[in-house]
Amino acid sequence: MRDLAALPKAHLHLHFTGSMRRTTLAELADRHGIRLPAVLLDADPLHVPADERGWFRFQRLYDAARACVRGEDDMRRVVTEAVEDDAAEGSGRLEIQVDPTSYAPFVGGLTPALEIVLDAAREASLATGVDVGVVVAASRMRHPLDARTLARLAVRHAGDGPGEVVGFGLSNDERRGDTSAFASAFAIARRAGLAAVPHGGELLGPAHVEDVLEHLHPDRLGHGVRSAEDPRVLDRVVDEGVALEVCPASNVSLGVYRSDADVPLRTLVEAGARVALGADDPLLFHARLLAQYEAARTVHGFSDAELAALARSSVVASRASDGVRSRLLAGVDAWLAQDPAAAPTAAGAPAGADAAAGAGAAEGTAADVDRASDAVDVDVRG
Ligand SMILES: [Zn+2]
Repeated sequence: MRDLAALPKAHLHLHFTGSMRRTTLAELADRHGIRLPAVLLDADPLHVPADERGWFRFQRLYDAARACVRGEDDMRRVVTEAVEDDAAEGSGRLEIQVDPTSYAPFVGGLTPALEIVLDAAREASLATGVDVGVVVAASRMRHPLDARTLARLAVRHAGDGPGEVVGFGLSNDERRGDTSAFASAFAIARRAGLAAVPHGGELLGPAHVEDVLEHLHPDRLGHGVRSAEDPRVLDRVVDEGVALEVCPASNVSLGVYRSDADVPLRTLVEAGARVALGADDPLLFHARLLAQYEAARTVHGFSDAELAALARSSVVASRASDGVRSRLLAGVDAWLAQDPAAAPTAAGAPAGADAAAGAGAAEGTAADVDRASDAVDVDVRG
């Protein structure tokens, strides 16, 4: 059996706070004198019903974890460890998602908050060979004008090198906010060449997927799994070339599906959807990237050729530079060409030199984002 940790893949759905190791969370809480809800340090993954109460519980825990990240050192540590953990699982490209709003008060504003994440991503790329891009995500819980401010900030750091912004997202409870009100923020991002990667179609069904397609014109959908419930909508997703960031462990933890076996991974793949498996929030769901590929193998019966196709699909759906994509795709071919009986090799190990290419290429030259928008206060949302 081929080693899935050696299969090169791109990880396109991982949240900054949600990527945290539980040991790190415990240490940070201790250092800052914060008492954490015990369930955050539990051995069992979160499991909530897929209703508003369930989401509220998830959000409260998420907020408690986020409150432990209080400054530049903590932020750098979260990024570094997320990249190290991805590297250990054969990820050659990570697009980590962050909403800098909550960290801004600790570091002097939105701009420094994002720049810290970008710099840490660049350094971690050099150290590990994983090519790390950043997705700036706005929240459905805040005013759409805040989303526009974040989109303008994201655009200033756009690029496909390590530590640059590759996409713009929209997160939090799909049931909240008016999707169309975020259209102008996405237009700002798309005009600058950023990928549009909003969440959609996890907590809500196919109608929500269509709403997001209509107004936000996504390149990828965060989740989108529930488009499987309507063949017409799924066909539209496929026809429009919208990739789906499918995060099975997240779907099960948030009560969208009863078990891994109920996640419609095969339906999506067989319909021709471009799927990229992701972990979403391993801190709460207790499964990182590799576990999603393992579930595809053990629960959904994906063969090694099908797993290689999933990995290729993740790379193609990424916004990595052409050089990184070719290297990873060649690595996938090499993985599949191996004799499955042979001992695992380091076929998936990315080359650090390639990852370093392009670092520091683009500096923000656009007009400064309104500094007033930097004076945001901490709030409780995602
Ligand atoms: Zn997510």
